[in-house]
Amino acid sequence: MSQGLKIVLSGPSGSGKGTIVKELIKDKQFQLSISATTRAPRQGEEEGVHYFFKTREAFETMIAQNELLEHAQFCGNYYGTPKAFIEDSVKNGKDVILEIEVEGAMQIKEIYPEAVFIFVVPPSLTELENRLVGRNTETREVIDQRLGRAKEELALYKQYDYVVVNDRLVEAIEEIQCIVRAEKLRSSFYGQNIENENR
Ligand code: 5GP
Repeated sequence: MSQGLKIVLSGPSGSGKGTIVKELIKDKQFQLSISATTRAPRQGEEEGVHYFFKTREAFETMIAQNELLEHAQFCGNYYGTPKAFIEDSVKNGKDVILEIEVEGAMQIKEIYPEAVFIFVVPPSLTELENRLVGRNTETREVIDQRLGRAKEELALYKQYDYVVVNDRLVEAIEEIQCIVRAEKLRSSFYGQNIENENR
C-alpha cells in the first residue's frame, strides 16, 4: 500500500479554508489532523472533533513534554499539532490535512520538506472582512485582530507551493483535488513509496 500525502493548508481567517477542508474530508481518502488549542470552543464545536480544547496550563505542559509537532500563537491563543497521529495516518495510506497558520506551517516545512503546501486566499480583503463579519462567530475586536493578521499572512504566500483563490467554493475544492492528484504522480512520491516498501 502506498503512503499518503501530507498536505498543509493555510490561509487567512475568513479565506474559507475551514469550509474547504470540511468538504474535502467527506472523501475518506483524507484525514484531518485535529489540533490542540487554548481558544474557547465556538458554538457547535466539539472536543476531539474540531479541536482538543486545552487550558493554557495544559497546553504549556504539552509543549514541555514534547507532545506537539509544531505550535504557534494566533491572536492571543495557542494552537498546535499533536505528534503521533500524522505518521500513523500517512502510513495507513491516508492523505493527512493540516489546517494551520503560517508560522506553524513553516515549522512543518522543516520537519517534512516533502509535504505539499497550499495557501488559500480570498478574492479580496473586502470579501474577507465581509465573510468574517457575516459568520458572526467573533467580536468586532477579534475580527479586527484577525484582519490585521490576515494582511501579514497574505504577504507570505510565496512560502507555499500552490495558491488557490477561493472565489467559488466548488472550484477551489476541485483545484485542491487536482493538486493532490498531480502530487501523487511526482517521481519523488513514487520513489518515496518504493523506498518504504523495500525497508
Ligand atoms: P480558528 O480559531 O479560526 O479555528 O483558527 C485560527 C488559526 O489557527 C487558523 O489560521 C488555523 O488554521 C490555525 N490553526 C489551527 N490549528 C492549528 C495548529 O495546530 N497549529 C497552528 N500553527 N495553527 C493552527
